[in-house]
Amino acid sequence: MQDSTKHTDSETGRVETKETTCYMCASRCGIRVTLRDGEIRHIEGNPNHPLNKRVVCAKGSSGILKQYSPARLTRPLLRESGAERGSSEFEEISWAKAFGLVEERYHFFTEARHRQNLYYQSMA
Ligand code: SF4
Repeated sequence: MQDSTKHTDSETGRVETKETTCYMCASRCGIRVTLRDGEIRHIEGNPNHPLNKRVVCAKGSSGILKQYSPARLTRPLLRESGAERGSSEFEEISWAKAFGLVEERYHFFTEARHRQNLYYQSMA
């Protein structure tokens, strides 16, 4: 990235930095995100954040890939019927079907006889 202090917006694009928190795990480290024309160009730790004091892990530093990687998941996938785990055989399904499956499994595990098997975790 060019030094935005030595170039105009028309040469480099509009560069701005926003302070926010990383949502890639429950720690919620403070980060500074540099954008050019609204696109993320760089992520670094926020030195003023009381929790992480500038330090971010490799996962947090690579958060840009979560936004722009062509390999990121953008639609729900369901393992094809009969496919082995790890075989990477999936079919795209609708969001309605995905939420329906989650709801079905949630109700199954919240039945009294299955509650001991339920564990809830929220991660980005
Ligand atoms: S920087 Fe790493 S440890 Fe911090 S919130 Fe992001 S993923 Fe979690």
